Amino acid sequence: MIENLFKIFGTKTKALEILYLLEDVKPVVRQGFYHNEIRKITDFCKEKGLYIEFSPYKIVLMDHGAYSNKGIKVDADDPREGMVFAYISKGKEKAKKANFHEANNNHINLGKALGYPECCCRFFKKHEPERSRLDSDYTVCTAENSGGSEFPFYTNILKRSMDITLLNHFPCSFNCENSIKLAKNHLDIIKKHDPEMADYFSERLKGKFNIEERLFEFI
Ligand SMILES: [Zn+2]
Repeated sequence: MIENLFKIFGTKTKALEILYLLEDVKPVVRQGFYHNEIRKITDFCKEKGLYIEFSPYKIVLMDHGAYSNKGIKVDADDPREGMVFAYISKGKEKAKKANFHEANNNHINLGKALGYPECCCRFFKKHEPERSRLDSDYTVCTAENSGGSEFPFYTNILKRSMDITLLNHFPCSFNCENSIKLAKNHLDIIKKHDPEMADYFSERLKGKFNIEERLFEFI
């Protein structure tokens, strides 16, 4: 199942989000796709009876990388190559609402529509004006908000560029209870479909990491 989703969606992170949706843990999945990828995504959704909605604009990435966070919004007919956002859900209304909230820059309602904890949505909104001008990476803000030196590996988002993460949002803190709960649900789903991958993730997310010269140990 995960292998098959991986072939269609291109990364483990993207494939797993779809699995969380199919397993009713995630209400809406929002992912960016290039024009040439859209056909196989829409075919997959049709086959699974999932509803898919596209943003009326596209995002042109400022640096080139599959996990780049930074991009600018342009009209859908802009000649530059860009990604459109797809909102995929089991219900039409949920996907439509997520698309609407994002088009209106309503970060809190968008985050909630995607199933992220409210505390983390508020955290994102608070830091968005500053971080969106920089690199759109909120890890430093999460680190600043995290007291202590040992943290549960569930909230470790520092390996997401290596396609290893149990969260698809920036947690408000590495101690965020709601994020830990969500990550545990995600890990249970991975375990159900691929116990080896679950072990691999759990091991890789543990260890010591440096953020701005401060040591964070995930256990
Ligand atoms: Zn939180």
